[in-house]
Amino acid sequence: MLDLETALARILTALPPPQRESVPLSEAAGRVLAEAVAAPVDLPPFDNSAMDGYAVRAAEIAAATPATPVRLRVRTKIPAGEYFVGELAPGECARLFTGSPLPRGADTVVMQEDTRTDAAHPAEILICDAGATGEFVRHRGEDVQCGATLVAMGDVLTPGKISLLAATGISHVNVGQQPRIGLLATGSELREAGQPLVLSQIYESNRAMLTPLVTYAGGVPRSFPLVPDTLAATQAALAHAFAENELVITSGGASVGEMDFVKAAFEALGGQLQFWKVAMRPGKPFVFGRLGEKFLFGLPGNPVSAFVTFLLLVRPALRRWQGADDVTLPIHHGVLGEAFSNSGDRRHFVRVRMDRDGKVFPAGQQASHALASLAAADGLLDVPPATRLAVGTSVSVLRWA
Ligand code: AMP
Ligand code: MG
Repeated sequence: MLDLETALARILTALPPPQRESVPLSEAAGRVLAEAVAAPVDLPPFDNSAMDGYAVRAAEIAAATPATPVRLRVRTKIPAGEYFVGELAPGECARLFTGSPLPRGADTVVMQEDTRTDAAHPAEILICDAGATGEFVRHRGEDVQCGATLVAMGDVLTPGKISLLAATGISHVNVGQQPRIGLLATGSELREAGQPLVLSQIYESNRAMLTPLVTYAGGVPRSFPLVPDTLAATQAALAHAFAENELVITSGGASVGEMDFVKAAFEALGGQLQFWKVAMRPGKPFVFGRLGEKFLFGLPGNPVSAFVTFLLLVRPALRRWQGADDVTLPIHHGVLGEAFSNSGDRRHFVRVRMDRDGKVFPAGQQASHALASLAAADGLLDVPPATRLAVGTSVSVLRWA
């Protein structure tokens, strides 16, 4: 049986290099940059004011105090979006607003709160506080210099990165293509919501769970009809899903029973099984297969097993397909609020909840069909085989959101 890291490495090395496409920045959130982007301009693009106030020469107001204000003539008013073509002469200042370009001749901004008007001389202003040279000036290029790398290849576009790109006037970015993913649920006991259940039947829940998980991972999911447990039905469903998608995720039918048809149906289609079974709990019967340049991820049917194997083995593949560098799950550090034991011989990914202080507790019953604890969980704790972790142990909890 493969260990988790070996299984993941085999999946990632089998994937083709990412294909790129250009998308509008407005649709690029969460996408993976296919190339580094350099700044086409300086940010800010010109010296401008950080305050509502007055543009001055620092040397002229060096002696200003509330008791001994310095009087300057207001030469012009420069609203944000306009500019002054002239140059301030000695003894002059300019009325400015946040974002107004600094006029030539000025080197400093005095904020409005440090000035007084003089009713007798409406064209003049009294400066009541000295300012250090450059104070309240946002200098050209102080944030980003033209030519600097804004985002690196393999970076995921967050709202902050999109803001940075937008501020430099970039409208489109080259990103990795998103894989299209067919979702199949196998099992003759499965029914759709809205259908009446007879004894022995259950409502199908894995496609509903995998749809958002695939979306969060940047894939484009599509659910296919339920697949009864026969070789012919499974083969036909796989053929349909592979015709329209690069990747197919199945759930159920991947175990050792004579009603498990995923492996046989995939091979009958011409697919090659790469490996089967990974040493983890939940989730041992996991199938990875290749059909030309397309791939099968056969997840166990138990919903929690499907959830955990998706996060640890499929999500990284979806990220890497798009060219992401970092394919690991986010981690939160915590401290055990209860002891955790694993007496088995496989790593156990335990559903845990974390309180606001970072204390980690079991989320409830840990059987691989138990969904109340999955719904309550904030993350997974990796407990190695034959291990007891005492209360107070520092741990890293794997998160999915
Ligand atoms: P299997 O992996 O097909 O042996 O299924 C293992 C368990 O998971 C069985 O109890 C199935 O009924 C259940 N199961 C399989 N697929 C689903 C599904 N899509 N939704 C809910 N339960 C499922
Ligand atoms: Mg089944």
